[in-house]
Amino acid sequence: MKRIFLFVPLVLGITFGYAQEKKQWPPELTEVWEPKPPQITPGEENAPPSDAIVLFDGSNLDEWTAPNGRPAKWEVEGDAVTVVPGRRSIQTKRSFGDCQLHIEFRTPQEVQGEGQDSGNSGIFLQGRYEVQVLNNYDNETYVNGMVSSIYKQHIPLVNASRPRGEWQTYDIIYTAPRFNEDGMLIKPAYITVLYNGVLTLNHVEIKGSTEYIGLPKYMPHGEGPLQLQDHGNRVSYRNIWIREL
Ligand code: MG
Repeated sequence: MKRIFLFVPLVLGITFGYAQEKKQWPPELTEVWEPKPPQITPGEENAPPSDAIVLFDGSNLDEWTAPNGRPAKWEVEGDAVTVVPGRRSIQTKRSFGDCQLHIEFRTPQEVQGEGQDSGNSGIFLQGRYEVQVLNNYDNETYVNGMVSSIYKQHIPLVNASRPRGEWQTYDIIYTAPRFNEDGMLIKPAYITVLYNGVLTLNHVEIKGSTEYIGLPKYMPHGEGPLQLQDHGNRVSYRNIWIREL
C-alpha cells in the first residue's frame, strides 16, 4: 500500500513534466528539410513519369533481346508488341534490381485453349520470379497459377480480371533478394502487385525461383533482366516502363 502511495504521485509527476516540456518545444524541432526528394513529373494516365526508363512505347524493340542475345522477334504493331508463339521469350538488354514496373497486357480475344492455355504469358522479374499473365475472366485454373499470382507461390487477394481482348495493367513494386559473399540468402525478395489498380499481392515474400515442377529455391544472383514469356499464346504488351529504386 505504501508503495502505491509513492508510485502514483511519481508517475503523475513525470507525465506532467513531459507534457510541460512538450509544450515548450518549438514545432520546428521535428521538421526535416534535407535531403530533398528529387522533383519529377508524374505521367498522365499511366504514361511514364519523367524519371522512368521506357522499355517499350510502341516504336521498336531496341531495349529487348532474345535470351540467346539475338534480336527479339515478337510482332510490333500499333502501340503493342505481341508474342509470336515459338519465337521464345524476350528480355530486356538492361538488368534491374529493386524497381517499380508498369506494364499493360491483353490476352487474345479468341479462345485458344483453357486452364493454363488461355492467354498465358508471364513477367519474370530478374529473369526468375514470375508474375503470371493469364485470362481468368472466364477461365479457371489452380489459384496459385492464376493471373496476378506469383506462379505456384502466392494466390492473389482477388480476381480483378478484365475480359479477353481488353487492356489490363500491372503496377509492381519489387525488392530484390540479397545474398552475402558466400551466396547465402540474407533477405528474400518481396513483391507488391496492383492489378488493374487493385491490390492483389501485398508485400509478399518470394520463396525462390519460379518452378513448374517442384519447390521454389533461391540461387544467388545479381541484377537480372525483365523477361516476358512465350507460352504459346498471342498475348500483347504495351506501355512498359520501369523505375529503379
Ligand atoms: Mg505464364
